[in-house]
Amino acid sequence: MRMFYDKDVSMDALKGKKVAILGYGSQGHAHAQNLRDSGVDVVVGLHEGSKSGVRAKEDGFEVLSVADATKVGDVVMCLLPDEVQRIVYAESIKDNLKEGQTLAFAHGFNIHFGYITPPEYVDVIMVAPKGPGHLVRSVYKEGSGVPDLFAVYQNYTGKAEETVLAYAKGIGGTRAGVLETTFKEETETDLFGEQAVLCGGCEELIKAGFETLVDAGYQPEIAYFECLHEMKLIVDLMYEGGLERMNYSVSETAEYGGYVSGKRVIGEASKAAMKEVLADIQSGKFARDFIAESESGCKKFHAMREEQYSSQISETGRQLRSMMSFLKK
Ligand code: NAD
Ligand code: MG
Ligand code: MG
Ligand code: MG
Ligand code: MG
Ligand code: MG
Repeated sequence: MRMFYDKDVSMDALKGKKVAILGYGSQGHAHAQNLRDSGVDVVVGLHEGSKSGVRAKEDGFEVLSVADATKVGDVVMCLLPDEVQRIVYAESIKDNLKEGQTLAFAHGFNIHFGYITPPEYVDVIMVAPKGPGHLVRSVYKEGSGVPDLFAVYQNYTGKAEETVLAYAKGIGGTRAGVLETTFKEETETDLFGEQAVLCGGCEELIKAGFETLVDAGYQPEIAYFECLHEMKLIVDLMYEGGLERMNYSVSETAEYGGYVSGKRVIGEASKAAMKEVLADIQSGKFARDFIAESESGCKKFHAMREEQYSSQISETGRQLRSMMSFLKK
């Protein structure tokens, strides 16, 4: 394992260089602003008429087309939606890449699954923050950082590692530690984590708990607090000090009950399902399905989003949260 911190990394590789940030969404706004605050020259690349282009200009950035930003960037960081990247790459990036430039990603999806094949005369790197983009920005402003994974896929110049580490430092990653990986490992573990545990798994665990209580006749508001709202407080303890800190802080009753009942809920059947999810990721099936869904207009995707939005847990939550004065809007 190779891990790097602030003291191990120099920003020299980005001195006098321009970084083009393509996309100004969750990750894009955070990378652009953090790099600028770290003294890096940043330009933003977006499509004509983009809403985030207005935000980027308000935030004081020069906004160019994707093609022009690609032409002027020494490092071109692709922070477009994964399902859009291959299209924009073919239309606006590919023919504008010059020898010795660096093409960068925050997730290995398109390179690893072969949707983008860069020319051999550029460096190809990845800096993947292990956290949502909005935290990459807010944690940086507090003086700390979200940890990153980094990888070098192609090292044409021989200097790709200096570049990737300087970039990770520029967005604040080395304040928390950046860990070396490969495009394959990052892609497969990231997809698995978000599907089985962080997003999909956690979401379904919360929903199943909520529905079990409501079906048994308890008030939905109580069920919401118990199964969703408190999740953050418990996870914060895990974040600070692992499972042991969480169990230290909760009551003996909760700790004992957790040991005996947790495995009844997430047991061998769930593990077998996780292995299937992982196999679909590794074989490229998930990627093919996701791209096919995108190409056919996202009908299934949007129907699932709508179903969730109009579910009882979402409605209960919207009402309760509107009364929580301490929540940021
Ligand atoms: P996003 O959807 O929040 O933002 C995408 C940006 O691209 C927006 O500014 C949008 O206007 C722009 N865009 C969309 N279509 C475009 C087009 N055709 N041409 C030009 N610009 C276009 O995306 P995101 O969640 O920040 O994800 C970007 C990358 O970062 C992905 O590779 C993702 O896997 C990776 N990533 C995201 C997170 C996260 O927290 N969201 C975490 C780690 C890695
Ligand atoms: Mg999103
Ligand atoms: Mg992730
Ligand atoms: Mg991801
Ligand atoms: Mg309790
Ligand atoms: Mg305890």
